[in-house]
Amino acid sequence: MDCARCRSEAIVDRPYAGDHLCQTHLGQTVFDRVRREMHRQAPKFTRGTVAVALSGGKDSAVTLAMTQRYFARRPTVRLVAITVDEGIAGYRSKTVESARALTDRLGVPHTVVRARDAIGTTTDEAAQRLPGIAPCSFCGVWRRRLLNTAAREASADLLVLGFNLDDLAQTVLMNLARAEVGRLLRMSPHRSRQPGLVPRVAPLATIPEREVYLYAQGTGIPFDHGECPHAGAAERNVFREVVWRLEESRPGTRHALLRTREAIAELLEAQGGSGAPGVCGVCGEASARPVCRACVYRREAGRAVMGLGTSGAT
Ligand code: SF4
Ligand SMILES: [Zn+2]
Ligand SMILES: [Zn+2]
Repeated sequence: MDCARCRSEAIVDRPYAGDHLCQTHLGQTVFDRVRREMHRQAPKFTRGTVAVALSGGKDSAVTLAMTQRYFARRPTVRLVAITVDEGIAGYRSKTVESARALTDRLGVPHTVVRARDAIGTTTDEAAQRLPGIAPCSFCGVWRRRLLNTAAREASADLLVLGFNLDDLAQTVLMNLARAEVGRLLRMSPHRSRQPGLVPRVAPLATIPEREVYLYAQGTGIPFDHGECPHAGAAERNVFREVVWRLEESRPGTRHALLRTREAIAELLEAQGGSGAPGVCGVCGEASARPVCRACVYRREAGRAVMGLGTSGAT
């Protein structure tokens, strides 16, 4: 099959767009979509510090490379990369290595925040202590917390996350299925400033995971292919399957889920419901509940809550 824009061989089909693209034109549309999302999510951002969350996997690696390209002509924008090491044996150390290789190549300052140092425990340790809870529950909460605190400590005005279209469509569906309307409003990308949180943007929001992967493969960006040993227990897996099936039978469903979130958010905001969080009574960080989930999980994992304030947000 030929590319829809030239005569080269296509490497990806895009049923939702009704075309096929070669590597060159995939790269072009990836950057076009990143640019559009950056304009939309962070309009008129021309100076300040931008922190990019870098796990070392394909999504965050592409996000860092694209963010650097997007701001290439803006010497007034400073870029930093932040990696959270949650303490997952046999997995995270390799992704941290890939993250280092990429930041060295791009010349981007890189900070690694270790959960062990910042919150006194690790995902592996908590998984042992809390066998009844899927590890992604506390791991994700702690990572968001650590990213936010590290971005704030770097004086970041923006926190760039590597969520792709599939990730976000799954999150929308998960929140709808749980009737978590508040979370639908607060999920990334942020629609408005939320007190205590560095505004989050997700420039890959309209790019399917498969296209991110093919783009990363084709350009030789260093990234780690490994999968977290805890991923199998994630509740998200069911939603991944459902979204994939829906997209297969009705191409464009993922984009529609994102539009659904926007439509609901606009309705709620028009009624005065901003979804803005309050403050955790224990650590003082942004939280929609009296005690944030980072503190709850940490307490459940049998750790003292003291010292959490230096490290992060829900
Ligand atoms: S898959 Fe789950 S446990 Fe593993 S790093 Fe991601 S959130 Fe953490
Ligand atoms: Zn082409
Ligand atoms: Zn707290």
